[in-house]
Amino acid sequence: MKTIGLLGGMSWESSSEYYRILNETVQARLGGFHSADCLMYSVDFDAVETLQHEDKWDALTEMMVAAAQRIEAGGAEILLICTNTMHKMAPEIQTAIQIPLLHIADVAGEAIQAQGLQTVALLGTKFTMEGDFYRRRLHEKFGLTVLIPEAADREIVHNTIYGELVKGVINSESRQAFLKIIAKLQDQGAQGVILGCTEIPLLIQQADLAIPVFDTTRLHTEAAVDWALA
Ligand code: GLU
Repeated sequence: MKTIGLLGGMSWESSSEYYRILNETVQARLGGFHSADCLMYSVDFDAVETLQHEDKWDALTEMMVAAAQRIEAGGAEILLICTNTMHKMAPEIQTAIQIPLLHIADVAGEAIQAQGLQTVALLGTKFTMEGDFYRRRLHEKFGLTVLIPEAADREIVHNTIYGELVKGVINSESRQAFLKIIAKLQDQGAQGVILGCTEIPLLIQQADLAIPVFDTTRLHTEAAVDWALA
């Protein structure tokens, strides 16, 4: 089994899910007393959240590169960034390390392609929904059409992530609001929905919806285990 490196803390609510799913998946595949061979470097999210909302992406890139290098120096053989948003600087991070970076959008794209879907909705932070680092990659590498909510709905999703989910607050009214937003995107042609923020699976699961749900936390983690055990 190879060593999986996790760049976490964004937020720790989702990083703890990565850690749990990683260990459960290895245990299910190998049995016995097996658990994941992994190491996590977890940042202080307060600094990250502040710099994101001040639009200081260069400073964030420096911070992420330094963290990735610490994980590599610690002996990890692959890197997972445990947040969709911070894949904004994935190219700079990959350039600064020798080990492979397992890109979360690629893992989502492969799962969508495997189900033969063409048009999918994307929910995430405003940085992920509105930027092109995520949608363009899905379009260029996987030929997908990616729909995002209208402006007012993007605001609701973004504010729920930062106001509730990263603080571990799971609110049933927010769940209903997300389901309404997804239904609108389904009316526009979405055949599935990407939970493109690693905390959204704490709020929405496949059981809540009739269309396929692509849970990036689970997909990313399971893909890492596939790699580590290959
Ligand atoms: N975990 C979230 C994501 O997947 C948002 C937190 C962050 O800003 O990194 O995008």
